[in-house]
Amino acid sequence: AEHIMIQAEKMNVIGEIAAGIAHEIRNPLTSLKGFVQLFRAGTVPNQTFINIMETELERIDIISSEFLTLAKPGNINFTSLDLQTLLKDVLALLDTELYKQSILIDMRVTTENTSVRGEITQLKQVFINLIKNAIEVMINGGTITIILANRSGRVHISIQDEGAGMTDQQVSRLGEPFYTTKETGTGLGLMVSYTIISNHDGEISVQSKLNEGTTFTVKLPSI
Ligand code: ADP
Ligand code: MG
Repeated sequence: AEHIMIQAEKMNVIGEIAAGIAHEIRNPLTSLKGFVQLFRAGTVPNQTFINIMETELERIDIISSEFLTLAKPGNINFTSLDLQTLLKDVLALLDTELYKQSILIDMRVTTENTSVRGEITQLKQVFINLIKNAIEVMINGGTITIILANRSGRVHISIQDEGAGMTDQQVSRLGEPFYTTKETGTGLGLMVSYTIISNHDGEISVQSKLNEGTTFTVKLPSI
């Protein structure tokens, strides 16, 4: 069954998100403080310590930048843009990762009308998030199929992976802030993506089958 994400039902408690950020950032900070104390007490920093510190700093960086795309409404600059071009730019950014994971992209464009109005950085962020999730779930490689279509005045972009798929219970948790099943995941990518698409008067839906794969579809008003 197709599940349509409703941003309001996921984002109704702003306090929950604020508490989550504080918590997620406090863990790496506590660890970094611990190292500072060790060094102050005379411990000589070695490679392992430095690697851990770098990982903790990167985590804080990732968490804050995932929120950054949302947190600057003053900067929102809607222009007309072509989603086919935007997707090609996003795929170029992910090229190395796709290659490393032995993943091919099968892009099918079934319409000439792929123009929308939107904020280019934010929309890029959405497709980076969705394609990265597809890459991360396709541990044995395979093909990600991207289909561009135009139906009833909306551009549809489907991203179909050959990953492990999800149970209905897992699907129902998507978009919840900090929901992640990955060891180093932030659980923020989809929440941010749903918010961005909702701010563009669009919609994201998901269909998933366990052991077969998942398809995310973004629908945006076409111009
Ligand atoms: P993160 O990638 O940091 O875990 P996301 O918000 O991007 O955070 O995704 C949340 C969770 O949703 C993931 O941890 C994973 O369990 C699930 N998920 C997202 N995309 C897919 C997908 N394409 N296939 C299977 N599970 C997915
Ligand atoms: Mg993600």
